[in-house]
Amino acid sequence: MTVASPSNLYSDLDVHAELDVSLAKHTWFGIGGSADLLIHPQSIEALATLARRCRRDGIPLRVLGSGANLLVDDEGVDGVVVKLDAPAFKAVEFNASGLLERMRVFGGAQMEQLVQECARRGLRGIEQMAGIPASLGGAIRMNAGGKFGAIGDAVDAVAVIGLDGEMRVYSREELHFGYRETNLPAGIVAWASLRVSADDPVACRTRVKEYFAYKKSTQPMSASSAGCMFRNPTLANGSRESAGKLIDLAGLKGTRVGCAYVSSEHGNFIAVDDKAAAAGTARTADVRALVELIQETVESKHGVRIETEVVFWRRGERP
Ligand SMILES: Cc1cc2nc3c(=O)[nH]c(=O)nc-3n(C[C@H](O)[C@H](O)[C@H](O)COP(=O)(O)OP(=O)(O)OC[C@H]3O[C@@H](n4cnc5c(N)ncnc54)[C@H](O)[C@@H]3O)c2cc1C
Repeated sequence: MTVASPSNLYSDLDVHAELDVSLAKHTWFGIGGSADLLIHPQSIEALATLARRCRRDGIPLRVLGSGANLLVDDEGVDGVVVKLDAPAFKAVEFNASGLLERMRVFGGAQMEQLVQECARRGLRGIEQMAGIPASLGGAIRMNAGGKFGAIGDAVDAVAVIGLDGEMRVYSREELHFGYRETNLPAGIVAWASLRVSADDPVACRTRVKEYFAYKKSTQPMSASSAGCMFRNPTLANGSRESAGKLIDLAGLKGTRVGCAYVSSEHGNFIAVDDKAAAAGTARTADVRALVELIQETVESKHGVRIETEVVFWRRGERP
């Protein structure tokens, strides 16, 4: 373990700390090794100080959201992993600053619950996130979204705790949200202000149900996966092609390496056998080997290199 001395790092901070914690149970893939140190900060101040100390001591700091877009290596990860699951990071303030059109959502809040709660209250603006598993911070980092829009469409401002431990607030005008990317600097999303507007609660709930039903009908939502493995590539003519379609046309649906397989329902979903994941015998190495096989096959059949959208965590690699 590369962590210096725990007493040096966090013992005087308002945090809960766990040593050598399996990350498999923290990710949707349900596989992968352990974090040397998993820290649950209880306040923004504790998180900021922790970030500052990690930088001071040269310790890598990673942030874990809902683990819906993560693949952790079998050997796990070094340094510090933080999880924003304390009440302070799951809070949602409706009518933030007294405005119905603004809500402040903290980094660890769950999108699924937020989407439902907004619909219940008759607030529109984030229903495009229906069915996308994410924490607010993970959704913003990835600019998660799909056919009906992305989280970036609703963002008014984002507060980030930088790797130097300083919190900065970025306004809508300073931010760019593109296809599964943002120009937000490295660091931890502490909270974001989201724009919503009043609407009929019945209409809101209907839209959420409709979007969720569409997603369920087109993607294998219950498989142990991280959603789409690859980004849709941009072709030479500037258009974006569906990675799932390229994988399908390359005849790769159903292809298997060990416990990992390409979904027969959706070519861009790589999943692992549920039983192997539950028994702890599923290996990240199989998923990575399958990813490489797909990349090589698609490139040789279509002349296009597809890159991963899923974030890979590996021991010894700087996040
Ligand atoms: C069944 C399924 C369906 C999916 N469908 C979609 C879809 O339709 N559209 C889509 O875009 N995605 C989809 N995904 C992928 C996933 O839902 C999104 O990428 C989501 O944004 C991940 O959020 P998370 O909180 O789980 O992030 P994690 O997976 O925990 O982390 C992803 C990245 O975000 C970073 N991160 C997490 N929290 C923070 C924070 N507070 N501050 C800064 N960085 C942070 C992590 O360090 C990591 O780099 C799907 C995944 C699954 C399993």
